[in-house]
Amino acid sequence: MKNFLKNIIYFILSLFNYDGAVILMYHSVAENDEFPTVKPANFEKQLKYLKDNKFQVIKLSELAELINGRRKIAPKTVCLTFDDGYRDNFLNVLPRLNKFNFPATIFVSTALISTKKALKHGKEFIYLKEQDIKEMRASNLVDFGSHSHNHVKLSNLARPQLKQELETSKEILSQLTGRDIISLSYPSGRHTRETEEAAKNVFKIICTVEPGRVNENGHSWRLKRNSIDSQVNFTQFKGIVKFGRI
Ligand SMILES: [Zn+2]
Repeated sequence: MKNFLKNIIYFILSLFNYDGAVILMYHSVAENDEFPTVKPANFEKQLKYLKDNKFQVIKLSELAELINGRRKIAPKTVCLTFDDGYRDNFLNVLPRLNKFNFPATIFVSTALISTKKALKHGKEFIYLKEQDIKEMRASNLVDFGSHSHNHVKLSNLARPQLKQELETSKEILSQLTGRDIISLSYPSGRHTRETEEAAKNVFKIICTVEPGRVNENGHSWRLKRNSIDSQVNFTQFKGIVKFGRI
């Protein structure tokens, strides 16, 4: 869809209040030009918008409790999530969560902790270190969830490998944080019915990449999320946080 048309639709959607929560999915927040990366200044503007316009930013675990209790979810409820576990979440996201007092969940692929990924033009993505995870957990604003161990497409795996990917990541994160790890986001969103069954045996909260709102008639093990990336402008952001992505 042409961007200007999208802007008009999101502008109209932003004028109304819709039932249910919108879970946002971020990746990197940094000064690089990669597709999934949001610039720190834009990220700050987005959080300020949520604060100024009285959105309720709640923990993913609180949202799961509302859903499982079949309790009504107020309009303008938002959850913040971050996939992959980039180190810029510690450097650029945590200070802003503190500034606005917003909670978030970071989904970490545990085999990637303390590693790097080369990008184009000599740049690289650096992943969280163990100490970063401990410090973020101590802030009490950040919960950690699994994003598998090796960031593999879980739907491609045989059952024993699938179980291992899920349980290894849970074990490592539990040890690092001293907390039970209750949530998972599927790498690349890939899952089948079998993946979902295996994941439900290990985690209570499971996030997909299917866009849309989440209401009390849903399931905490099949949560829709809405990607916020470098291509989402501010007009679109204001529509997405109420309606979800179109
Ligand atoms: Zn990922």
